[in-house]
Amino acid sequence: MTTESPMLPIIYFGDRFVPESEARVPVTTHALHYGTAVFEGIRAYGDGQRSHLFRPHAHYERLLRNADLLRMSPGVSVGDLVEMTVELLKRNEAFADVYIRPLIFKNKAGIGAGLPPGETLAIMAQPLSRWDVPRTAASADFSRWRRFSSDACPAGAKISGLYVNSSLARAEAQAAGVDQPILLTARGDVAEGYGGNIFAATGGRMITPPPEADILAGITRGILIEHFQSRNDLRFIEEPLAPSVLLDADEAFFCGTGIEILPIGHIGETILGDGSCGPITAAAAKWYREVVTGRAGMPTDWRVPVAPGR
Ligand code: PMP
Repeated sequence: MTTESPMLPIIYFGDRFVPESEARVPVTTHALHYGTAVFEGIRAYGDGQRSHLFRPHAHYERLLRNADLLRMSPGVSVGDLVEMTVELLKRNEAFADVYIRPLIFKNKAGIGAGLPPGETLAIMAQPLSRWDVPRTAASADFSRWRRFSSDACPAGAKISGLYVNSSLARAEAQAAGVDQPILLTARGDVAEGYGGNIFAATGGRMITPPPEADILAGITRGILIEHFQSRNDLRFIEEPLAPSVLLDADEAFFCGTGIEILPIGHIGETILGDGSCGPITAAAAKWYREVVTGRAGMPTDWRVPVAPGR
């Protein structure tokens, strides 16, 4: 996810809240050299008076799981992290839509790959409005960059160094004037976008690639799978998705915390449906918006309120 908005002025850094200008790392920092950091992307939906973090516990569980993969123990619980995030938004008086970026990085100074002890936690946020529902369909194309394989690294983990893959694919798409790259697996099946999972509707079936397709199996994807499984008018299937099946799809979309639900209008020269957001995608986007804004009945801890005051 990227936005043009500046970061909000107060950041949690190390062990306290500091002004952004004080949240700095030395150039010798391990994570800067070797990508040894883990991060999250969490949204809060606000109305200007109050906002609600969406599924912060699920995001922080994933963050700590990934931190563990890099042998990092930041010494905070999921509950602590949620509380710190609530406090961060209060201190920034951020009660509209925001995107929260927690980051835990290896802070050892000096050269040498490996997983040396020592980590720093940072949590920052920036404004990020919700997208229109339904959203204008995006252009997409297959990237020359394949998604890295799980044989090479933990492909399902949100580890900073692994995002060179997403960055290369996105930059390639941008240079070609395409909104979104689609990354294939090393085997040639569809994996996902640079920052979101992919679903395709074809002939009454809704397909999404399985975790074995080296994807980051996102929280949004999980929510949508349950939704599609509960619908009688579609047959949901998690199975390898061939590029040819995606090109023949009636509809397809990317999904993720930041991009929410982004319809795909065409892939290269191939137009999906009539090139605009299809009816299944539009209905899913409407339902998802109701979920994140608390208008659909969901477990109460999915939304954590943030209101002004102590
Ligand atoms: N895949 C990649 C590569 C991502 O960066 C993201 C965003 N975290 C996703 C999928 C979607 O994950 P989520 O729904 O948990 O935001």
